[in-house]
Amino acid sequence: VAPPPVEHYALNKLTSTSNPIANDERVLILTPLARFYQEYWDNLAKLNYPHELISLGFITPKTREGDAATAALQSAIAATQSGPIDNRFASVTILRQDFDPPIVSQNEKERHKISNQKVRRESMSRARNSLLFTTLGPSTSWVLWLDADIVETPSTLIQDLARHDRPILVPNCYQRFYDPNSKKMSVRPYDFNSWQDSETSLELASKMDPDEILLEGYEEMPTFRTLMAHLNEPSGDPDTIMELDGVGGTALMVKAEVHRHGAMFPAFAFYHLVETEGFAKMARRLGYFCWGLPNYLVYHYNE
Ligand code: GDP
Ligand code: MN
Repeated sequence: VAPPPVEHYALNKLTSTSNPIANDERVLILTPLARFYQEYWDNLAKLNYPHELISLGFITPKTREGDAATAALQSAIAATQSGPIDNRFASVTILRQDFDPPIVSQNEKERHKISNQKVRRESMSRARNSLLFTTLGPSTSWVLWLDADIVETPSTLIQDLARHDRPILVPNCYQRFYDPNSKKMSVRPYDFNSWQDSETSLELASKMDPDEILLEGYEEMPTFRTLMAHLNEPSGDPDTIMELDGVGGTALMVKAEVHRHGAMFPAFAFYHLVETEGFAKMARRLGYFCWGLPNYLVYHYNE
């Protein structure tokens, strides 16, 4: 009997460049998914990066809500993967999350309460890490983190983010809403986790107990950080780029080597940061800088 074949991957030939299509770069889109929105799937299906270079990975919680989301996701996958060949993704993986006692379903207001944040975000870190460590392959060039409630992005999202050739790059996550004053649809910032540190935040952190974490966007804990969410100029240059110390994960483009070298989502206080903000800090400690695009918008679902 012939011995099993050995596969070789020259990781130094694996690129992640500003011209990913020309270089056949594989993109892994990772989504923790508690609720399925058809708008998310439709937007994903419209991404015009060659789908044969895109693999999808999902992790869904083992709750009733998670079961329903998984079923809806599976129908959407079945439709796309049996449709026109050019629309089919290279591969799809769904993981079921069975490590934590599931967090009971929370609405937007409830899950954003400061008292719920530490437990929630540490659990999200474990979900993201499980998803990442089981799906990152030897030919993955980029990881695009995309939350399941991102319902609108430019169809060129992957190319647009890769073009900047940054190890970690985050667009600005906004939300559409009906403004009763103007009686028109308008937009407002949604994700406040992309920021630059301030003297106050560093000072606050320096006085914290080892397990305490800093949170952004809470009146109870003013940090005076510079928030990318507030720096959007509606008619500004979408290529405007800024350095960041913390990043959000609603949409987040990462060169695979950053994860491969060990940057993950701490499910514990890491420099008083957790999850995506802790990831930014960990990447920084590995020598990578984080960047953001204040004028490049993606949109979060409005519950
Ligand atoms: P928020 O927008 O920051 O309030 O956070 P979300 O509740 O939208 O969660 C972020 C992402 O993780 C979304 O894609 C959710 O569908 C997903 N998510 C939320 N809770 C869980 C969970 O317990 N397990 C998993 N696997 N995904 C979750
Ligand atoms: Mn969300």
